[in-house]
Amino acid sequence: MNVNDSCVQDHMTMGFVTVEPGASLNSILEVLVDGDNSCVIVIQDDKPVGIITQRDLVVLLAEHHRRQQPLEGLLAQDIMTAKPITVPYGSPLKEAFVISQSYTVRDLPVVDEEGYLMGVIGQKDILDAHFNMLDELQALSMEDSLLGIGNRRAMEIDLQYSHRNAQRYQRYYSVVLVDVDYFKKFNDHYGHQEGDRALRLIAATIQDTLRSSDRLYRYGGEELLILLPETYPLVAAKVVERVLKSIESQGEPHCKSDYGVLTASAGLCTYEPGCGLEWKQIVEVADEQLYKSKQKGRNCVSWTGEDAVAEAVV
Ligand code: GH3
Ligand code: MG
Ligand code: MG
Repeated sequence: MNVNDSCVQDHMTMGFVTVEPGASLNSILEVLVDGDNSCVIVIQDDKPVGIITQRDLVVLLAEHHRRQQPLEGLLAQDIMTAKPITVPYGSPLKEAFVISQSYTVRDLPVVDEEGYLMGVIGQKDILDAHFNMLDELQALSMEDSLLGIGNRRAMEIDLQYSHRNAQRYQRYYSVVLVDVDYFKKFNDHYGHQEGDRALRLIAATIQDTLRSSDRLYRYGGEELLILLPETYPLVAAKVVERVLKSIESQGEPHCKSDYGVLTASAGLCTYEPGCGLEWKQIVEVADEQLYKSKQKGRNCVSWTGEDAVAEAVV
């Protein structure tokens, strides 16, 4: 359900109770006591002509008690609020909310064009819908609108969570920072819109290259962060090399780069159980490694421990 096109019929309840104008007070009380309805709708020829709420009944009982008047013989038509405030089927939920607030009514009958009763929308239905929308809005605010991937806020939440799990269960995880090479020159030469398109292409390419358990976030600007859960440094380095290759092989022209096509550089850091680093420090180290990749000539990945592995191979 989209936040903006939510209508009353999407949230109204069909489990409402109706009575005829000639219904007795006793039958109305029974209906209200039996079900969990807060009101009954009085209908004539399937059109709402009145509404009786629990509150109306409490007021009625109190008044009759004060005046010592008997309640026998009272009918729905004597008690009901005539011409209830209704909302048309198809009207926006926002409208129902405003009407229920400004008329201070808890339940609004929903009617079709000819005035036939279709359902009832209560303040609770509106509140429930409101909270669902909040969830939706929250989800939207976790996403980067340009790239359609998680934003920095989502990234921090995921890193915190993954870090806690890694600590608790003695697991590894790897963090990769990917930065587009010579992107300022790309923008300057091809224009900012082309830059945006290229950035989307890079994000999509990375996403396609990763396993489904890996996560991609926009770290900021033209920098992306990849979180590789349960991944050892050597395996992570292989994954990143594959990612960088697939970005290069998209063949996106970049005449201002030594490579002739758009490329990216990466820095990798792996959390190892017992290493004592916090997630923010892991990201910092990945950033230092990224800087090393830029120094080495770009379009490559650097990672802590790579020198030791290289020495071992030699
Ligand atoms: P390096 O290879 O050292 O990373 O060089 P660079 O030019 O990529 O790095 P620099 O930090 O100098 O420039 C980054 C550029 O990225 C500048 C900025 O305008 C551009 N950029 C950041 N975010 C966006 C975006 O959302 N869209 C576009 N089109 N450009 C962006
Ligand atoms: Mg950058
Ligand atoms: Mg860059």
